[in-house]
Amino acid sequence: MYESAGRRLVVLRDIGFTIEPDEFVAIVGPSGSGKTTLLGLLAGLDRPSSGRVLLDGRDLSAMSEDERAAFRAANVGFVFQTFQLIPTLTALENVLVPLELKGNGRRADMDRARALLERVGLGERLDHYPAQLSGGEQQRVALARAFANEPAVLFADEPTGNLDAENGAAVADLLVELNRERRTTLVLVTHDPKLAARAGRVIRLEGGRIVSDTGGAGGAAPRATAEAAPAGRSAGGAVAPANRGAARGDGTPGDASVASGTRPSDAASGPEGGAA
Ligand code: ADP
Ligand code: MG
Repeated sequence: MYESAGRRLVVLRDIGFTIEPDEFVAIVGPSGSGKTTLLGLLAGLDRPSSGRVLLDGRDLSAMSEDERAAFRAANVGFVFQTFQLIPTLTALENVLVPLELKGNGRRADMDRARALLERVGLGERLDHYPAQLSGGEQQRVALARAFANEPAVLFADEPTGNLDAENGAAVADLLVELNRERRTTLVLVTHDPKLAARAGRVIRLEGGRIVSDTGGAGGAAPRATAEAAPAGRSAGGAVAPANRGAARGDGTPGDASVASGTRPSDAASGPEGGAA
């Protein structure tokens, strides 16, 4: 729910799902359906007005702003439609930003940032500023930055949305490849049917509700519960841990949980048994 000038706008309702480690999930739906809002909640950029978001078993919705920032820095990568590089920093310096927060030492950070930029094909452009790079190149820097800390989960909001077809395809390829190489859980919003088709699972939002979910591993992934919310209920929704909220029927509408590849235990077990 967004609130401004006393007006309340409920953006998401009855959202409930679990994402398993290593999944590649595409979130699709018309403009204004709440995709960016949902991604921001899952990544801990925003906080739900009601409900919970669990990431790797940790309740993001219960954390303070500072706790969420620290948690994000350690666990989450984010790629934006508009690249969001820091204009006063070179490509190399942009990739160094998240690394420096970790304190592994200057030399190790430099080596890692350079290797990542080489991996995305920009080994010759280390000292270029964003304004000296094309959109496709800027987004490749942003990919290098997003993967710098080996995040457990990478979120991408229309990562190819501002690129022409050719550059968009190149960025999409890189994103999918890097995701596979590093076994990152990948959750991306896209309008590109070709990119969505590469995901193992597609969640469709319309008007702030999940209208379809092709399901997760084993076909027993929790369905989004689509009943009307209790009166007064607003966006977000309660979240159960990955291994409980999965059961159909008694799953609380409005649960969302993301598991990373690093903690397979909880998320991998639960749903199958009871839900079939
Ligand atoms: P999508 O990414 O699917 O296009 P968004 O999540 O950006 O959708 O937006 C969903 C709805 O929430 C829209 O009606 C939008 O106008 C509204 N909205 C998004 N951000 C804000 C905000 N910061 N304040 C108020 N309303 C917002
Ligand atoms: Mg959006």
